[in-house]
Amino acid sequence: MSAKPKIAFFDFASCEGCQLTVVDSLQKHVELLDVVEIVQFREAMTERGEDYQIAFVEGSCTRQQDEERLLKIREQAAVVIALGACAHMGGVNALRNRQAVAQASAYVYGNEVETPKAYAARPASEVIAVDYFIPGCPIDQNEFIAAVKALLQGRSPQLPDYPVCVECKLRENACVMLQGKACLGSVTRAGCDAICTALGVGCEGCRGLIPNPNLEGLAIAMSESHIPIAEAEAKQQLFLTHQLAGIDG
Ligand code: SF4
Ligand code: SF4
Ligand code: SF4
Repeated sequence: MSAKPKIAFFDFASCEGCQLTVVDSLQKHVELLDVVEIVQFREAMTERGEDYQIAFVEGSCTRQQDEERLLKIREQAAVVIALGACAHMGGVNALRNRQAVAQASAYVYGNEVETPKAYAARPASEVIAVDYFIPGCPIDQNEFIAAVKALLQGRSPQLPDYPVCVECKLRENACVMLQGKACLGSVTRAGCDAICTALGVGCEGCRGLIPNPNLEGLAIAMSESHIPIAEAEAKQQLFLTHQLAGIDG
């Protein structure tokens, strides 16, 4: 009998980009495949083992049957990790929570198609207890590998709790807000090395909010940078619709 920890990957409503990032990561870190046994990973293999200790869950919960699947995963796995923005905080899927499912369906598929039996997109943590999450859209390869190594060593995966602005300043980027571009770096969890702002694009918040984000300060900074309110709001809706709804109450 193998003593290697058994790992499974599951996908829900998502683009599967985080799973592809996992495949990429494992190709660069093949040594990990010697110390774990992957028993289920639809993106990469046909076997579907149901005996696992660590479960990575990608994607948002959007339907009743998703809840049943998540509960089954939680029952089996000792550790459940939300993989990527969709699973961590609803991600881009939560954008459609701003309208009725029928309205979103008609917009995408037209009026001839029956409205899907879906409800508001939500993170896995709203259905089951999630032990850890790996943020981002998609996840960062190094962060995924570091999380797996930590779990194998019996440690908790660690994430930065400071904002993207810190990494942005360390890279000596020119602040895009001074160019009149909206940026969520001051309220977004670091760890991506400010990849977007280094390219002159405002942070979209894909890694989710830091603890105690100063949203009021962000609104003032946006206003002082003459960023139209509609643009500032649109920026915050792309990834943060679900998290901000929680803060608004
Ligand atoms: S977080 Fe982004 S890359 Fe990952 S599954 Fe969701 S949409 Fe795709
Ligand atoms: S560009 Fe964004 S992340 Fe960088 S310093 Fe300005 S607000 Fe912060
Ligand atoms: S800069 Fe912002 S949007 Fe870009 S990867 Fe980092 S957290 Fe995501």
